[in-house]
Amino acid sequence: MKFKPILILYLLASCMPQNKTSPIITYPGGFQKALILSYDDGTIQDVELASLFDEHKLIGTFNLNSGYIGTVKGWPLANGDTVYQRYVPTDSLDVIYKNHEIAAHGQYHKDFTTVSIDEVRKELAEDISYFQDKNIEVKSMAYPFGKTDTIIGELARELGFVNGRTIDDTHTYSIPDSDQFLFWPPTTHDSRVLEHAEKYINLKSDDLKLLYVWGHSWEFGDSTRWNNMIKFCETMGKAEDIWSVGHLEFTEYILAIRDLEWKTNEVRNPSSRISIWLKHGNQIMMLKPGQTREF
Ligand SMILES: [Zn+2]
Repeated sequence: MKFKPILILYLLASCMPQNKTSPIITYPGGFQKALILSYDDGTIQDVELASLFDEHKLIGTFNLNSGYIGTVKGWPLANGDTVYQRYVPTDSLDVIYKNHEIAAHGQYHKDFTTVSIDEVRKELAEDISYFQDKNIEVKSMAYPFGKTDTIIGELARELGFVNGRTIDDTHTYSIPDSDQFLFWPPTTHDSRVLEHAEKYINLKSDDLKLLYVWGHSWEFGDSTRWNNMIKFCETMGKAEDIWSVGHLEFTEYILAIRDLEWKTNEVRNPSSRISIWLKHGNQIMMLKPGQTREF
């Protein structure tokens, strides 16, 4: 019996290496790992922390209470004492946070779950307008005390926020689904940051990963904690495969990935301003806004 030509072609084709694999998505530069450093309250100790980040070319996201900027405020402690916090000066935001992202944290740091929804709206709307006056667009936020619920999250979305960070540490490196961006759980408070440093440096993954660290610069009065943070920033600064990024830029990148338009042999980036990075085999490529690439 003789094989028909078409069957021979089919058998040949099925033995040939398959080149038609789809590219995988990466972070800018072809990386698979990202780092977000999110710091709350905007106290004067941010000056030292932001310059530590600068020294190691790391990007911070600083969640500020617009109502306290430029003030000194006493916070009552449970034991009856008062702790005084000095906040960053009004006229220095563009110096202290020059290389970093500024985000909202509620005008007066009220617990959103114990005040009326109108008060929550005011807390966030006042932050937006305070920073708008300084030409700073805030679309990221961290909830005061990490507290929120579905109604508050929905309100934040309505006001234009694209994310909202809680304090429900996951101790994992996964990225939440986009419908959870307004209830974004971080990886870890910085008190446990060294536990994650080595693990994250050694992590190899084809999926996109995120180490999300949060804290307060005013907690670094404890010298052990501060020295640990220095060590952590040195380690992350030296890593050559980690994208250090602000929470807003990161969120917008992930949302732009979600919008990519895939066809059998091509992918199109419909974004008007965000480039997306892809890896196809060993080749790393950038998909510019509006660009289509065949593969
Ligand atoms: Zn706070």
